[in-house]
Amino acid sequence: MILLGNCTFFFQGASLLAPQGVSADTVYPDIPLSHAEQFPFSDIFTIPAGVSDAAQGDISCGVISCVSVPAEAPLPPFWQAIPVRQALSAFSGSLTEETGPADTLSPVSRLLRAFHIAQWRRESLFCGSCGAKNTDASAANGGGHPAEVARLCPACGRMEFPRIAPAVITLITNDEGKTLLAHNRKFAPGVYSLIAGFVEAGENLEAAAARETREETGIEIGDIRYIASQPWPFPHSLMIGFSARYTAGTIRPDGVEIEDAQWFSRDNLPLLPGPGSVSRYLIGRWLDGTL
Ligand SMILES: [Zn+2]
Repeated sequence: MILLGNCTFFFQGASLLAPQGVSADTVYPDIPLSHAEQFPFSDIFTIPAGVSDAAQGDISCGVISCVSVPAEAPLPPFWQAIPVRQALSAFSGSLTEETGPADTLSPVSRLLRAFHIAQWRRESLFCGSCGAKNTDASAANGGGHPAEVARLCPACGRMEFPRIAPAVITLITNDEGKTLLAHNRKFAPGVYSLIAGFVEAGENLEAAAARETREETGIEIGDIRYIASQPWPFPHSLMIGFSARYTAGTIRPDGVEIEDAQWFSRDNLPLLPGPGSVSRYLIGRWLDGTL
């Protein structure tokens, strides 16, 4: 376990901000909070770096300070914007470590947690029930401690917590030892990845995996097994990874999201998604024979 203590992130839109000279490969620039003076009108907030016992006010895991800079604000001289996805892919290879109980203390998990909450704060300024301006629940409770990550409506008392939207992603194999990879129209040219999609209200995870596969490629799957998960705050997902076996049907890409889908063998792969994602992790597990 890495104990990092307190840390600070600066965000603008979907990017990390850092002084020039900080490597774009870092997810943990840890810039002094005093630099916030250069970013007027920012949302500056502090949250527990972990989630264990946070509701009871335990912040022994350390705290993350965030400076969420307005999207339209010009960058000061000698600062750079590093897309969070780029920082994440540069940090690759440690997803298995990221899924352990210590994950909320790792650099990647801190980045994902902070980025998720910074976005949610921008979208929770007003009460969704009565429209009054929300306050921070932690400040409203009088303690001023950052343990409770919630908004509180002072008019009607409604509490709001960071929204997390579960999404499933599935590594599908057939009896020939091949895996199903698809090209989504949002992907870069030539890149193929796994079938993924959001869970619908009232649906369990396995049903979502089967439905998404059926909708996007026309095939049926079975033996759906949970493998790993990863926070994916682009904007607010939790990716839940499964393995599954092909059971029936012929591949028919939906032509809407999926432009092409094919069975690929290990020795004949297309371009794959970048490291640092659960899709690449699942494909890596299949490549090394553990799935
Ligand atoms: Zn309200």
